[in-house]
Amino acid sequence: MNKNFITELKELRNEQRKEEVLVLSLFLDLSYPNDFRHELNSLIHRKKKQLKELDASKKRKKMAENLFGKLEKRVEQLNRAKEKKLFVCFCGSDFWKEYHLPISVPSKLIIEPVPYIRPLYMGLEQFKRYHLVVSDQKQAKLLTYYGGEVQEKENLSASDAGDQVSLSYDDKESGGPLKSQGKATQRYGGSWPDSKVQHRINDHRHHFLKMIALKLFDKLQDKEMDRFVLAGPRGGEGKSVSRMKGHLHSYVEERTIGSFEGEPEMPDSDLVEELRKVIKDYEKTEERKFLKHLLGEARRSDGMGVLGMEETLRVLRNAQVKTLVVKGGSERSGWICPEDYYLSATRTSCPECGSELKETKDILGHMIWEAVDQRSEVRMIKTDPEDEFSKYDVGALLRFRLQSSRR
Ligand SMILES: [Zn+2]
Repeated sequence: MNKNFITELKELRNEQRKEEVLVLSLFLDLSYPNDFRHELNSLIHRKKKQLKELDASKKRKKMAENLFGKLEKRVEQLNRAKEKKLFVCFCGSDFWKEYHLPISVPSKLIIEPVPYIRPLYMGLEQFKRYHLVVSDQKQAKLLTYYGGEVQEKENLSASDAGDQVSLSYDDKESGGPLKSQGKATQRYGGSWPDSKVQHRINDHRHHFLKMIALKLFDKLQDKEMDRFVLAGPRGGEGKSVSRMKGHLHSYVEERTIGSFEGEPEMPDSDLVEELRKVIKDYEKTEERKFLKHLLGEARRSDGMGVLGMEETLRVLRNAQVKTLVVKGGSERSGWICPEDYYLSATRTSCPECGSELKETKDILGHMIWEAVDQRSEVRMIKTDPEDEFSKYDVGALLRFRLQSSRR
């Protein structure tokens, strides 16, 4: 996630921690057909009821009322978004921060002493950029899909891939670690009849594939965030896609997550639909792989993983967490020390300072903040009910083990 964004929120949080105040965190889905103004009204209605039930102090209630009013006013001015758009607002008695993000998470209104950032991690995959190339022998279309919509589009034609293209591959070859040109030639060279005409066509096709491969390499900006999907004509899918693969730079190849049957003439909307399927499968597979790894580590007696609230809190306190893993939809209450933010799943007095712990409705949120502070990764699990992880709300992969860290 954007570093400045987190830094900004961290400063905000530290600011808030100094005094007993409240922060409203609003996540509002502006995308069609959601009636977002109505949704805000009902979110506010529910919060008012909760505040009443909680028997909140007059000061707190008044502060909240005031902020609700401001939020309603602001949301009145917002426009509906065609595609995924999230309006995020963190506000308190003397600050206001808002963001528009191209992601989609369920609307939510939270009142806590600190900004609530969990939904942002839920939507993190949506920050990934997917580059789709759909090509036949004559033309290719390149779509860059990000935040739920096509952000860039480019058409390439084989006729542009004249002999002059050869220069780029060789040039890039000497400049960077591109896949060897010789390998590709060897792979296909033998299968073409040895006539001059055929040779020229062959050459031409290679040039075109190279041109596409180079384009894809150019698109790669962020190794974490960029992914590629290939598509080729019906019937010939395997063939054209595998030919394409032979030309890809290894960085691009490693980040290619799937392929489907398609043609450059297909409407973008159809291509995007197919692309979304590939992305969904990929995310599911990735999540499963990740959970398998975590469960394996947690089961091993000398493994680098833990599961469950108690264990995860313990490793978090010891700054051992490499990746904090939180099940997306879960809510858990717990206990926190108002002095030093010691977190506990049960009510005790604080072992650090002896203060009485205070109840928090959102201990997972505080754990995420703690992980953010420790520069750990945070990974949200979008629930896989069949998996063993569904028994737990939280777990962690470790940076290191402590000698005494196991019973
Ligand atoms: Zn304490």
